[in-house]
Amino acid sequence: MSKVDSSFVDYRPPITVVVGHVDVGKTLLLDKIRGTFVAYREPGMITQHIGLSFIPWNAVERIADPLLTKFRLKGKVWIKGFLMVDTPGHAAFSNLRRRGGSVADLAVLVIDITRGFEEQTYESLTLIRSRNIPFVVAANKLDRIYGWEPHENAPFLDSYEKQREDVQGRVEEAIARIIEEFNKLGMDADRYDRVRDFNTQVPIVPTSAVTGEGLADLLVVLAGLSQRFSRDKLRVTYGPGKGVVMEIREEKGWGVTADVVLYDGVIRKGDLIVTAGLEGPVSTKVKMLVMPKPLDEMRDPEDRYMFMDEVKAAAGVKIIADGLDQVVPGAPVFVVPQEASLDEYVKLVREEVSEVKIETDRD
Ligand code: GDP
Repeated sequence: MSKVDSSFVDYRPPITVVVGHVDVGKTLLLDKIRGTFVAYREPGMITQHIGLSFIPWNAVERIADPLLTKFRLKGKVWIKGFLMVDTPGHAAFSNLRRRGGSVADLAVLVIDITRGFEEQTYESLTLIRSRNIPFVVAANKLDRIYGWEPHENAPFLDSYEKQREDVQGRVEEAIARIIEEFNKLGMDADRYDRVRDFNTQVPIVPTSAVTGEGLADLLVVLAGLSQRFSRDKLRVTYGPGKGVVMEIREEKGWGVTADVVLYDGVIRKGDLIVTAGLEGPVSTKVKMLVMPKPLDEMRDPEDRYMFMDEVKAAAGVKIIADGLDQVVPGAPVFVVPQEASLDEYVKLVREEVSEVKIETDRD
């Protein structure tokens, strides 16, 4: 690849996926995180994305302050926030694949605390482990534990302290059952504040997507994991853009568009890109790049987008170009730098696609 690629610029926020069995609360958890932490920022400061939500770290800090002190993380968190993938579940996770791994930096495996492991819990776990992604378990629906007294948006540890002893006992039993399932799979796990070694133990954070309890703990653990285990992956450059197609969709007036997660580099209007369809590589020119407008600038639903000249990683962006109707979700997207040959990039896409396809067959 060209030399510009190695010019380190910054660390990007980790891209985080939410997976787990149906009905465990993945969607509500994402909604609650978005609503809770985005509300702590001035509207104009929020960067909007296609298919991703940016959760600014300084918003998390307001709720998580006591936890940061307790875990001696105060002032030590250098990630600026999280880019949560808006669509939960296997499909989003699988689409975010690239050669030799995943575009996702972190995962949240959601388990219903009252039900424990279910069929798709195992499937999600297999996916996470095959891509070697640091993850945390959200033991969700904590508020359903019999006798639980909710404390809106409180860290789990604070709320837990205030519960009756019998209620605490029920929480412990539920966590113990989850730990036991991990043990059966040859893995070690523990309630996150009791984890001694994050290299070998899976942290479990009890949460409620209804009351917001435990969300602060969840994001603090994710910050810790990403700083420790994803540092190299979070380096971004201002080299030619690299991304993955999350979704292909038809938009009125624009034709078929591609929603892309840009994980490195820069993409500009007018850039030549190479991506992939079922019939093989597709090369096309970026006609337009759009991102959602900040909420406070959106006047009516027709007026949703900002037109961008360039977008830097990491970001979720919609690409408008000819020939995208061939393209499939999960396809890689590369910007072809002016000095490079298109053939070289077509070959790169072909290689990447064949490798990802082999992986699909194995899943
Ligand atoms: P998904 O299929 O995993 O995305 O699950 P949803 O987010 O759609 O949630 C499934 C159901 O569980 C919905 O009726 C939610 O309102 C409910 N639910 C989700 N999280 C919680 C929670 O923390 N507490 C309670 N009591 N209900 C929840």
